[in-house]
Amino acid sequence: MNSKYIYLHTIGCQMNVYDSEQIAIRLAASGYEQTASMTQADLIIVNTCTVRAKAEQKAFSLLGRLARMKRDKKRLIIAVGGCVAQQEGEKILDRMSAVDLVFGTQAIDRLPHLIQQVETRRCRIVDVEMNENPQIPESHVESRDERETSKFVTIMRGCDNHCTYCVVPFVRGRETSRRPESILREIHSLVKSGVREITLLGQNVNSYGKNQNLCTFPELLTMINGVEGILRIRFTTSHPKDLGSDLIAAFRNLDNVCPHIHLPVQSGSNRVLKRMNRQYTREQYLDKVMKLRDTCPQIAITSDIIVGFPGESQADFDQTLQLLKTVEFDGLFAFQYSDRPQAPSVKLPDKLPETIIRKRLQIVLELQEKFTKCKNEALVGSTLLVLTDGLSKKQVSDQPVENGQDVQWTGRTATNKIVNFYVDNPAIDSQNLTGKMVGVRIEKGFSHSLLGRVINVEPSTGGLKGVKNYAA
Ligand code: SAM
Ligand code: SF4
Repeated sequence: MNSKYIYLHTIGCQMNVYDSEQIAIRLAASGYEQTASMTQADLIIVNTCTVRAKAEQKAFSLLGRLARMKRDKKRLIIAVGGCVAQQEGEKILDRMSAVDLVFGTQAIDRLPHLIQQVETRRCRIVDVEMNENPQIPESHVESRDERETSKFVTIMRGCDNHCTYCVVPFVRGRETSRRPESILREIHSLVKSGVREITLLGQNVNSYGKNQNLCTFPELLTMINGVEGILRIRFTTSHPKDLGSDLIAAFRNLDNVCPHIHLPVQSGSNRVLKRMNRQYTREQYLDKVMKLRDTCPQIAITSDIIVGFPGESQADFDQTLQLLKTVEFDGLFAFQYSDRPQAPSVKLPDKLPETIIRKRLQIVLELQEKFTKCKNEALVGSTLLVLTDGLSKKQVSDQPVENGQDVQWTGRTATNKIVNFYVDNPAIDSQNLTGKMVGVRIEKGFSHSLLGRVINVEPSTGGLKGVKNYAA
């Protein structure tokens, strides 16, 4: 049988990356082989994001290019999935005549059947059905030839929080947790295929299991911590209002839980936090940061900020800057506020002019860069434990170099800092380091990464496996 080829384009967060993988695995069973070449593809799926207007525009501009491609390749099937598909539904078919299929965030299990219908009947289909009590589809795990070090595992979908700026509850539906047995089954098979690090995904992992009487998130972490072969456990995202002392204690008590938490604060002003419906105050947030650092002194804390939320005054913005100076985050994602048609904040008065929003973003980014660079520079001279992802991007895109000393590898510390490194020990040069834990002596600290040299491979970590930041 001739293979059919699928090209998958993913826009947005880790959840979409995970969903795209599940799509590829399901369609492999229908004879679709993944290709990295758009022109070779018989089926192109665009997995979309609508959290900010820019991501949505990106999807439509790609669809425009695909429509031009289809003029010369009439049998090409174009499908749109993910959050824009869920939000726009049928309107996508009206706007883009080249699109054959629109499928929503809960339609992944039905996808092979939908594609088969398009193939056989050459009809145009929309499936954006949303279930009030959705079941999370069983994850499929692919057997791989190539060793992968780190994988995402979705533990819950949807969100019940209704932050006023956010479209997620509308396009991803009610919060639903996956059963622990199903999560553990997936993790066991990933570990069997060579994965050493997993990142648990959910919009608000701290409320895992709560509305379904499953176990709590810290209890789930304890179970996963016991899986033989896992070196590192990460998770994202934690909502500050639900971060309890049991999860804070997990950073101290569970050997394999990495000392890093992504704890989006969004704003440093209580007035804005209230209008955002975040359900915590600046003081409560700072208290949790203090408790995290008291419990786990090496913990890295990263966050998200939205600048220019409707009505954000200069005084509100100054409070955000003040909070950034107080906390000194290890890393920060800062976003310009973006009006989303379904989100309640679209109706708020006092929208800020684009010029002010852009200026505020610049100020936040410049301030944060100083902290990140300073923290990274302070690591120069130390030896950090790095789990190697593979050759660095620079290396992959440049001409391969014969001399081992010039080859640059990349990986992450337990605190989630990117480390690029060289190997100049002849005993190590010839090894493929992908998936290996290495000790790296840090020589330089930049604003987004560290640079160093390998000292040893799979060093003894004193029983702490891969989560200790410093190598022996
Ligand atoms: N569930 C996570 C939480 O509670 O923080 C985050 C989910 S959201 C997909 C990721 C980030 O996008 C948010 O933390 C927020 O900073 C940003 N974001 C969401 N909606 C936005 C909007 N309308 N405009 C700008 N940024 C937005
Ligand atoms: Fe959006 Fe708030 Fe839910 Fe995060 S917690 S997904 S920001 S509604």
